[in-house]
Amino acid sequence: MGKPLAGSVGVLGGTFNPVHNGHLRMALEAREALGLERVDLMPALAPPHKARAGLLDFDARLGLLREAVRGVEGLGVSDFEGGMPAPSYSFVTLSRLRGLLPDVNHVFVLGSTDLLTLPEWHRGLELPLLADLAVVDRMGIGQDAVDAFLAAHWRFRDEGPGLRRIDGGRLVALVPMPRLDVSASMVRDKFCAGLEIAGLVPEAVRRTMRARPAAFLDRWKSQP
Ligand code: ATP
Repeated sequence: MGKPLAGSVGVLGGTFNPVHNGHLRMALEAREALGLERVDLMPALAPPHKARAGLLDFDARLGLLREAVRGVEGLGVSDFEGGMPAPSYSFVTLSRLRGLLPDVNHVFVLGSTDLLTLPEWHRGLELPLLADLAVVDRMGIGQDAVDAFLAAHWRFRDEGPGLRRIDGGRLVALVPMPRLDVSASMVRDKFCAGLEIAGLVPEAVRRTMRARPAAFLDRWKSQP
């Protein structure tokens, strides 16, 4: 049997403050499990859920992302939300992408912890009606929790292991991922404490951060 979303393009939206190895790994797991043509990591210009204090500028986050994916086949970076009004709402972004590129199926990639917060997003509960979702296992939130969440909001049917079809909507595919408990907050905390971040972020990202530490510390140390 072919891969369920073969040829589609993944969009991994996030803050990426900064990008870390968990982001790269989840994008690759989604791509390989679902047969996606590629996955674009797309930083939010102004994330609605996260504090602006302590946020690196859009161009700085974009620059680190470009370094992170360089040479990794099947991953790209999109600056699309840089040209959209702030705050960056995934529903609006995906609607806009669909209007601009009607022949491309965009699959929204997110961690399972974030799936559970969809009711707090702008039109979050409409997302699975608009786009296929690739939900990557994070922190042990797997199929049972995903099914319970889906059942609380939609009717859906089981289309095989990890595949759920929302009635009147799209596919919600659960993607297994080796547990990598790295987060951007962990990277920021360690970097601000002068600790080593090798193994948590791609080497090119680490090198850039260590070459100009003040550019990062000034911003991150101003976090509330
Ligand atoms: P922060 O620590 O600042 O809250 P974060 O590490 O969660 O940030 P985001 O940019 O907010 O990073 O995450 C973008 C997406 O990547 C989200 O859907 C999130 O669930 C997912 N994600 C981030 N880290 C991991 C990880 N280690 N494993 C699986 N999914 C992850």
